[in-house]
Amino acid sequence: MKTLICPYCGCSLVRLGISKEKAATYSFAGSEYHFCCRDCADEFAADPEQHLQRTKDLVVCPTCLAEKTPELTFTFEYAGEKIPYCGCPYCREVFLKAPDYYIKRLEGTEAMEGVGDFIRGGSDRDAITPISRGDGDFDLLIVGGGSAGFSAAIKGAELGARVAMAELGTLGGTCVNVGCVPSKTLIRAAEANHRRTHHPFEGIAATNGQPDWPVVRDHKDALVTGMREGKYRDVLRSYEAVTLFEQRSTVTSGNSITLADGRQITAGKLVITTGASPWAAPIPGLAEAGYLDSTSAMALDTLPSSLIVIGASAVGLELAQMFLRLGVQVTLLEALPRIVPAEDPAIGNVLAEYLADEGMEIHAGVTIERVERNGSYTVRFSQDDRASTATAEQLLVATGRRANTKGFGLDDVGVTLGKRGEVVVNEYLQTANPDIYAAGDVTGEPMFVYVAAYGGTTAAENALTGDARPFDLTALPKVTFTDPQVASVGFTEEEIRYQGAEPLTAELPLEHVPRALAARDTRGFVKLVADASTRKIVGAHILASEAGEMITELALAVQFGLTIENLTSAFHPYLTLSEGIKLAAQTFDKDVAKLSCCAG
Ligand SMILES: Cc1cc2nc3c(=O)[nH]c(=O)nc-3n(C[C@H](O)[C@H](O)[C@H](O)COP(=O)(O)OP(=O)(O)OC[C@H]3O[C@@H](n4cnc5c(N)ncnc54)[C@H](O)[C@@H]3O)c2cc1C
Repeated sequence: MKTLICPYCGCSLVRLGISKEKAATYSFAGSEYHFCCRDCADEFAADPEQHLQRTKDLVVCPTCLAEKTPELTFTFEYAGEKIPYCGCPYCREVFLKAPDYYIKRLEGTEAMEGVGDFIRGGSDRDAITPISRGDGDFDLLIVGGGSAGFSAAIKGAELGARVAMAELGTLGGTCVNVGCVPSKTLIRAAEANHRRTHHPFEGIAATNGQPDWPVVRDHKDALVTGMREGKYRDVLRSYEAVTLFEQRSTVTSGNSITLADGRQITAGKLVITTGASPWAAPIPGLAEAGYLDSTSAMALDTLPSSLIVIGASAVGLELAQMFLRLGVQVTLLEALPRIVPAEDPAIGNVLAEYLADEGMEIHAGVTIERVERNGSYTVRFSQDDRASTATAEQLLVATGRRANTKGFGLDDVGVTLGKRGEVVVNEYLQTANPDIYAAGDVTGEPMFVYVAAYGGTTAAENALTGDARPFDLTALPKVTFTDPQVASVGFTEEEIRYQGAEPLTAELPLEHVPRALAARDTRGFVKLVADASTRKIVGAHILASEAGEMITELALAVQFGLTIENLTSAFHPYLTLSEGIKLAAQTFDKDVAKLSCCAG
């Protein structure tokens, strides 16, 4: 079998999606050689004999296309021939399903359409599908260097594409700079401060004291800087195929952008990953008064003595409790009837009680009339037709985020925007302009970093390969990092009823979970929802100190259609909080009071 290997760098042309016809070609001593790029061809031409010697023995696995030196190669028999391969039984098995195809593909004489069917069937290992290159400077051009942009860039590079990324602000985007990372480290710092005086263990002295906010904030900033460099800039440096342009750009067509310095960059496809920014509800007086958003609140010079937070979804709630635990007096205002309004109603009601016990003043179901600022802030609101006011030194508005879609040309290139300014995409993340894809917060809710990352990967793959890999958010777990945490996946009881099915529910208070008893923290519950006709788990709603760590098991249960019995029969190690999942599943059929510790 003759493999198509670049005789200069030794990489497999097939792996890069380059057929013989498209490869740079150079004739030497009566033979034709095919290269992965023009640079390799030029280098080769300087000393062909030396390079042929160096690369002559390289072997490519016919299935996964890994490049190996002979000593790392295995063989198996096919049609009386010894076929060299990487040694993985899966590759041998897949090869034998369509040997003619794989042999031709290796020789660069077969187009690669169809390989995905073999490789993906039953397993989701990376398939090699040919990428469309176009005539541009790059194959893929990504606008926005946050999590979605990075995933798109990495996927593009892995597929062998030449990738460009344009970022106008701080590399890494929201999550690492002003979102997940800073908020979660500050939440843990505030928790440590809270636990000094609020822990449940006798004999352990409470140590009261004031947090040193500038030190706490600088510690957070150091973590952010380290993670930005380590997880973003350095990662990008390790992908030679990715070129970063750190400047403003304007999208000029489905295949081009113009940089602020005037250069035009062209590419086969574009992926828009420009994220979202804090958005404030239109409240009279707010714009004049000024206010904090999540970014400026985490960067404050000094801690305020008191704070009003408007908005009790994830960001507002997390920051409200964080400031409360650093000693700030917090008043929380929410327009909907409950805090965490998108979650199962029981969760919002119980969590509100815990937060009130910690000292937070909470008003849900309010209509905010006006914001005034006269030194301190006054927020006028009505609740149950009664007029009320809240006053505080600072005001934080956390009423949502809106897509960054204005001011860089999207309106003029045939991309449709939705009611909230988000880029409208189909299930393959393609916009109304077939050459432009979009992923992450810029496409609207749900705005989570793992959704953005998955979107970036999916958009890049679909854009480059023409695949139609659907963006599937079934069984999406969600976490709100309050203490106790809120985590959920799938449907609520009400949603199942609304769909016309009959739900089965089980709710286990954490006081029945040994881990919670030993940790002396029995706040919360595990609620499971199953379909009565199939007994499959269709939803889970948890309020618990580490609910975020527990929800992945239930996300798998929902995704793969596990039943109540699958959960009750699986081992759950004793004295873990996740044992609460098994116990909750048992309570579908048993009285939890009659269950012994770990004797189901
Ligand atoms: C306080 C807070 C806490 C959060 N906590 C969590 C959490 O715990 N877990 C979780 O999953 N999610 C969390 N999120 C949400 C998460 O951060 C986002 O969903 C995720 O970062 C979105 O990634 P993205 O790539 O879509 O956008 P971003 O990360 O925002 O990236 C967009 C990038 O595009 C750049 N850009 C914008 N316009 C242009 C332009 N015209 N040209 C070039 N570049 C442009 C921006 O500068 C930015 O770098 C949190 C968000 C906030 C605000």
